[in-house]
Amino acid sequence: MSDKEIVLASNNAGKVKEINALLASHELTVIPQQDFNVEDAIENGLSFIENAIIKARHAARKTSLPSIADDSGLEVGALNGQPGIYSARYAGAGASDETNLQKLINEIKNVSETKRYARFVCVMVYVRHANDPVPIISQGFWEGEIIDEPRGENGFGYDPIFFLPDRGCTSAELESNVKNKLSHRGQALRGLVSEIIKLL
Ligand code: IMP
Repeated sequence: MSDKEIVLASNNAGKVKEINALLASHELTVIPQQDFNVEDAIENGLSFIENAIIKARHAARKTSLPSIADDSGLEVGALNGQPGIYSARYAGAGASDETNLQKLINEIKNVSETKRYARFVCVMVYVRHANDPVPIISQGFWEGEIIDEPRGENGFGYDPIFFLPDRGCTSAELESNVKNKLSHRGQALRGLVSEIIKLL
């Protein structure tokens, strides 16, 4: 039997690989939306869940396939949850990871080191078709603290300043397989896959 195809509303090769590794034993495979010439959806929701659903419906509508989408970001307690859903564009539309990270360091550096709580959030959504009234939604959270001196070379985005007190390192100092086990994205993905396979 050939694999059942699911379109992934992301073109990130790392995500495609990570998701396919979990789906392989269930005869499911995700294909990035760019393989179907699907352009990015406009993310104008006010929550991670809304944005993930917008992206999933868009990919399903354009391909007539079931789809998976994710939306993630970093919430900083002392900044009232910012940058949140705007994490990828914290320093403005099209800002680089480095510029976003520097902006966060500037915002946090005068905050006491005892008030640096932050968490990564990831929401993953599966829709069977574009108008699916019952999307599967899975959320993952990863708690840590923000430091103002970047550490580590792995990962991306805010990883060099996301410090894990129980490990004594930042998420940019973790090997990728360890990060995948602990991270908001890993948690959300495992939850999503376990729900999808119940539908089969
Ligand atoms: P997206 O959901 O992949 O678009 O991620 C949104 C933004 O959140 C990214 O551009 C990063 O700035 C931030 N982000 C999400 N997950 C992570 C992570 O695991 N490490 C570092 N930054 C992250």
